[in-house]
Amino acid sequence: MTIPFTPADIKGKVAVVTGGGGVLCAEFARALADAGARVAVLDLKAEAAEAVAAELRSRGAQAIGVAANVLERASLDAAADRVAAELGPCDLLVNGAGGNHPRGTTSKEWLEAEDLGDTSLTTIFDLDPSGVKFVFDLNFLGTLLPTQVFARQMVGRPGCGIINVSSMNAFRPLTKIPAYSGAKAAVSNFTQWLAVHFAKVGIRVNAMAPGFFLTAQNHKLLIDEASGEFTARARKIVEHTPMGRFGEAHELTGTLLWLASSQASGFVNGIVVPVDGGFSAYSGV
Ligand code: NAD
Repeated sequence: MTIPFTPADIKGKVAVVTGGGGVLCAEFARALADAGARVAVLDLKAEAAEAVAAELRSRGAQAIGVAANVLERASLDAAADRVAAELGPCDLLVNGAGGNHPRGTTSKEWLEAEDLGDTSLTTIFDLDPSGVKFVFDLNFLGTLLPTQVFARQMVGRPGCGIINVSSMNAFRPLTKIPAYSGAKAAVSNFTQWLAVHFAKVGIRVNAMAPGFFLTAQNHKLLIDEASGEFTARARKIVEHTPMGRFGEAHELTGTLLWLASSQASGFVNGIVVPVDGGFSAYSGV
């Protein structure tokens, strides 16, 4: 979908999008490419990254797909070398790679006394530290490490910025997913910290906090495999979203381009913008 407003200063910028092979981040890559950026699509899955980059090239953009693991410094250093050689130094970094893991998730919303003897359930007492660590690493370290690698190229160059991807559950935790909620709260907090830390070298840092969008990472939680209908959790989300629906990926891109553009948001720094159909404004009553 074409964005009705495209800030002129994104044209010619080099944008790196981590997790760019995924549903939301591929849409971020499309929006940046359509605004004239040269885009590096980074993803753990080389094929997914290349497929998105090929699509961007078919739309007339300059784009490369790069296999990169946001949790491995060497992999990111190699990706940065390739981006610098083929597109130039990074101006815009979108830290999109992230997600949850079943091992950081409880079976039920509330603990009841009789749950303690039920071995079919994962309660707070059964949460696997390795699952919790996976989620914290992916979302928090997966934001910190690419920032270390790509922000170095931004220091002292005008018009550079970082956009992190937080979530609704950073404001108030969602039931069942303590690790993902805590990890995204850390991403929001880190966004503020980075904005302050980088303020004197001209790098603005902001985040988007998407509400609920149907994507690969949450499909199993939201769509019943057998019937193809919404699960009870999906229905609850929609009921708690005043606009009464899930978001569409393209509905995040106006905010992304606004935050990416110094022309449009040059004095905006250290904020986390909810894009949530009113979810965070609604008390449920
Ligand atoms: P997605 O699963 O479609 O995309 C995530 C991408 O990240 C995948 O392509 C995956 O291969 C890649 N990835 C995973 N681990 C990686 C690693 N170690 N290194 C590099 N790439 C890696 O998910 P999505 O829903 O498009 O999520 C994008 C971002 O938006 C995530 O940070 C997610 O937490 C966040 N988010 C999503 C929603 C939603 O409703 N879908 C809501 C709030 C926030």
